[in-house]
Formats: sequence, structure tokens, C-alpha cells
Amino acid sequence: MRVGVPREIKTNEHRVGLTPTAVREYVAHGHEVRIETGAGLGAGFTDADYVKAGATIVADAATVFADSEMIVKVKEPQPIEWARLRPDHILFTYLHLAPDPEQTKGLLASGCAAIAYETVTDRNGGLPLLAPMSEVAGRIAVFSAAETLLKHNGGMGLLFCGVPGVAPARVLVLGGGVVGLNAARMAMGLGAEVVVLERSIPRMRDIDELTGGRVITRYSSIGAIEEELVKADVVIGAVLVPGAEAPTLVRRDQLKSMKPGSVLIDVAIDQGGCFETSRPTTHEDPTYVVDGVVHYCVANMPGAAPRTSSEALNNATLPFGLALADKGLEALKKDPHLARGLNVLKGEITYPAVAEALGLEW
Ligand code: NAD
Repeated sequence: MRVGVPREIKTNEHRVGLTPTAVREYVAHGHEVRIETGAGLGAGFTDADYVKAGATIVADAATVFADSEMIVKVKEPQPIEWARLRPDHILFTYLHLAPDPEQTKGLLASGCAAIAYETVTDRNGGLPLLAPMSEVAGRIAVFSAAETLLKHNGGMGLLFCGVPGVAPARVLVLGGGVVGLNAARMAMGLGAEVVVLERSIPRMRDIDELTGGRVITRYSSIGAIEEELVKADVVIGAVLVPGAEAPTLVRRDQLKSMKPGSVLIDVAIDQGGCFETSRPTTHEDPTYVVDGVVHYCVANMPGAAPRTSSEALNNATLPFGLALADKGLEALKKDPHLARGLNVLKGEITYPAVAEALGLEW
């Protein structure tokens, strides 16, 4: 199959759909890969790296779309990209169509088959193409918290890891899923005292086992949140209720009970945030202060590490992408987990939550 990778054009997006390592695998499967010149530069991959892996470098995105049968990207297509999609194209990328009717209409009009990373499933009921970005975000959350706690960044002036004779930060993690576990383990590794509040008892057992009991787990109740907020130097919001907005776990009036200069990191901001006072911020201007508490609510945290994020994403997407390149849409019949990724086909919505979000009967 002819596989094309355009340069990402969404603002501040530096990841790339295929890394040179992935390209080599596609080429080894007998596929032709076309990469738009400079597509990998933001993640540290040069055109020469892609040529060495067996790709052809193409001068512009229009040619990538025109000459390819499958388009592999990272972010949802932008309007100029919808216009380039055709009925014989397979599009494989993050789409997040439910809150985006304009993009959905653009994809329906194109007639393409659009497969969304975020709805591909695995046999444990997980979302294998979302998990790598949650791993990155959970780890970045701890770096960001450590930075933000410093005085010149508005924090209370506490060294996250402490020093001999002085206690480290106390970190409260709300939600112990992929983000929460990664944040908890990173914070623990830096010597912090860590408490995770969870609703899932099996998940708390996993965390207890995976951290050798060094991370304290507590059932997430209103009372437990109130008790822990008072003691925390850092709170990391990492909850997810699938298919719903994030629940509000910390209200504005509760900020007054927190230490001045303490830090809230709302990783769940991409689902609306789990603190009442959260609003999305960017890497350029990541924090703001409410009632003496510093808020960090960057909606695209993995964007800070496009190299690691591109590689982690490709590790997860590669087997699915290769199956699509090898078998075309027949691959969906052979793999029900990949089939769940199909959101749009030949001008029809094929994913219930997207149809419902657009007010269509399913
Ligand atoms: P996940 O499903 O693996 O984990 C979520 C956890 O929250 C689950 O274990 C669930 O039991 C728990 N939970 C639900 N309600 C709770 C409550 N009231 N109290 C305590 N725990 C509760 O999800 P994830 O992959 O860890 O993602 C977490 C959030 O981070 C999501 O909103 C995701 O979209 C977001 N995220 C944001 C970024 C970013 O750049 N800001 C990047 C990646 C992920």
C-alpha cells in the first residue's frame, strides 16, 4: 500500500505520525511510504533519517495526500486536510469527533474511512492507543509539579524531593489509572510522600502491589479528599469517567483549606478538568493562581516531549497500522479491537458515541 505522512499543521503540534523506526517496518512489509519534507523535524527526525529507513520525501502535503492510499497522522485533520481526503483513503489518527461536529462533517463529506486511535480497544477493555500519552502526561505532571513548587514559579518554595533532615513534598493523586499510576511512581521515585485516591478497589490493590506498599491508597470519598487536601503540597488530578466530563472533585471553597503556594496539576483538563477552578492553559503560559494555589492545566502535556511521545505512540499504533496497510479495510473484519476504531466510513458515522453527540439516531 502507498502510505503517506503529512507534517502536522495544528498549532504547537510537533509529533509525527510515523517515526523512521516505524517506516522501516512498513517498508519491510512491502509498502511504499511518503513523508512530507520536515514532517519529523519537531520530534528530532530528519528527512535523511526517513530516507535511510526507506521512505520517499515529498515536497508538500498536497502531494502526500494525492499519492497515498493510507494517511497516518497524530492530530485530527484540519479543514485543509479534510478537503484533501478522498473516498479511497484510509485515515489513521486521533480524531476526538464527539465534541467536533465541523470535523465530523468534513470527514463525512470526504467519503474516507477514518479510524480513530482513541477508540481502538484491547482485550482487557483498555484503550491501547491512548495509554502511551497518559503515561507521558503522568510523568510530565511530576516534573511540572516540582518546577511549579519553586518560588520563582509562584510555588511555596519547596524542593520536591527534600534534603536530608527536611521532608519532601506530599503529593495527592486523584485517580489511579494510567496517568495516576505513572505520576505516583515518578513522585515516589523522587522521594515524595504519595497518596492516591481511587474508586476502583482492584486498581488500588494493583497500585499497592506495584509500588510495594510505598504509595498509600485510599478510597476516594468527599471526606478523604478534604482530609488529604489540607496536607498536600501538590495535587494531581487524573480521574476519568469514560464517556463523561471529568467529575469536579475539588471546589473553589476548598482551596482555602490548602497551603498557600501549593500546586494543582489538572491532567484531566482535556475532559473539562476535575478542579472547579481549572481552565485550559498552554506550555507557553502554563500556570495561574487562584486563592493562593498555583494551577497548572496544560491540555496537551505530551506535546512538551514530541520525541518520546512520537516513539511511544508509534510503538502502540504500529501493529494496527501495519494490519491496515497489509489488508486494507479487511483488517477490521479480522480484528474487532481495530474495528472499534472505525468512526466514519463512506459518508456514514460508524461509532455510536459520535452519532449520539451529533444528535443522530443510532
Ligand atoms: P484511566 O481510565 O486509566 O484512569 C482514570 C482513573 O480514575 C480510573 O482508575 C478510575 O477508577 C478513576 N476515577 C474515576 N472517578 C474517580 C473519583 N471520583 N475519584 C478517584 N478516582 C476516580 O484514565 P487515564 O488514561 O489515566 O487518564 C486520566 C485523565 O487524563 C483523562 O481525562 C485523560 O483524558 C487525561 N489526559 C490528559 C492529558 C493532557 O495532556 N492533559 C494527557 C493524557 C491523558
